[in-house]
Amino acid sequence: QDLLGRIKDKDGDYNSFITVAEEQALAQAKAADELRAAGNAGAWTGVPMAHKDIFCTEGVLTTCGSKMLSNFVSPYNSTVADNFNNAGAVCLGKTNMDEFAMGSSNETSFFGGVKNPWDSDRVPGGSSGGSAAAVAARLVPGATASDTGGSIRQPAALCGITGLKPTYGRVSRYGMIAFASSLDQAGTMTRTAEDSAMMMNVMASFDEKDSTCVQHDIPDYTATLNDSLEGMTVGLPKEYFRDDLSPEMQQQVMNAIKEYENMGAMVKEISLPNTHLAVPVYYVVAPAECSANLSRMDGVRFGYRCEDPKDIHDLYVRSRGEGFGDEVKRRIMIGTYALSAGFYDAYYKKAQQVRRLIKNDFVEAFKDVDMIMSPTSPTPAFKAGEKGDDPVAMYLEDIFTIATNLAGLPGMSVPCGQVGVDGGKNLPVGLQLIGNYFDEARLLNAGHKFQ
Ligand code: GLN
Repeated sequence: QDLLGRIKDKDGDYNSFITVAEEQALAQAKAADELRAAGNAGAWTGVPMAHKDIFCTEGVLTTCGSKMLSNFVSPYNSTVADNFNNAGAVCLGKTNMDEFAMGSSNETSFFGGVKNPWDSDRVPGGSSGGSAAAVAARLVPGATASDTGGSIRQPAALCGITGLKPTYGRVSRYGMIAFASSLDQAGTMTRTAEDSAMMMNVMASFDEKDSTCVQHDIPDYTATLNDSLEGMTVGLPKEYFRDDLSPEMQQQVMNAIKEYENMGAMVKEISLPNTHLAVPVYYVVAPAECSANLSRMDGVRFGYRCEDPKDIHDLYVRSRGEGFGDEVKRRIMIGTYALSAGFYDAYYKKAQQVRRLIKNDFVEAFKDVDMIMSPTSPTPAFKAGEKGDDPVAMYLEDIFTIATNLAGLPGMSVPCGQVGVDGGKNLPVGLQLIGNYFDEARLLNAGHKFQ
């Protein structure tokens, strides 16, 4: 009730929630109280949280930030939602996001942009901007999110919170509305690494309903938070410390890395030579996969349908024409082109080949180091509207995060300081930690020791 009140009071300013599920939340809280009174409470009994509106939640509106699903009440739960329900958590509602998770500023949401709690003229990052802002504004202690090219880590960095994208296949994608299936992964938005570890204890599960979910031991992510970092080797990829990164941001990141040295880590420069190919490869692979995934939004079975369709063709064309926003349409067109007969080999197949080279860079690097560190994003939070007309400028927001998704590796952003911007405000900076496959516990350990 306390947090529902706080959301009512404050979220008019931020717009971080699309749906507040008050009735369901109070029923879950009541059930949790009863369990607690009966002496049957677990770590998550009654803990409030929220889901990014990309996760299907039974009986609750699930929009994915789109007009296309603005009337879609899911008939089933995503596995992630089930896991939290089964643990006794209380879901307060569904957080705002870029439409179908395409964007880096939350400005493509059909439900309006989200304001960065640090400065209301600025964006919270995206696509999980609602989850990041809600946690940063203390409307909720933790929220789920998804990351296809940076959508957990970049908004976490821009809002000064902790975001973890696990290894591809660690968390079930069942019921998480697909954007680019070979890149999408669910993860956490929290204030601290410790809270993220608690969320991972609930989220990580093997799930037969997701054929890409990996059967791999699941540790207690909270058990190793305090392990020593003595002797850990950290690689700094020279391609991620670029001249165009502001000296102030560079300084904050280097100060954080110095702290790791003080804690006993050994730091060395490494090279990931194919880094410059990551954004171009992503913008072939992700649109190609999204064009296929979004073909199910046809106005027939669920979601938005145009008024008075003349025939089936008119129904498809107008429902999709009216239901999707500009960025989504741009990607469907690029992806359809890249997958069309005669172009497949030149675009999608070539992109997948280069993707393998990018992955191999990481595999080589991890023979030498335990963890990779870099800035999370090239800029702190930028002004709303600033990159609106320039999709490529927006795409470059993910220049440090995208390669991790192409390789399927886990990545995390932890707040590591602030930089001053015009107007005398300070904005947060994120340090990105990239781990080897299934090394989430070590990332959380490293994040926790720093915090
Ligand atoms: N900003 C990237 C995009 O627009 C990544 C989004 C994401 O990770 N979902 O595609």
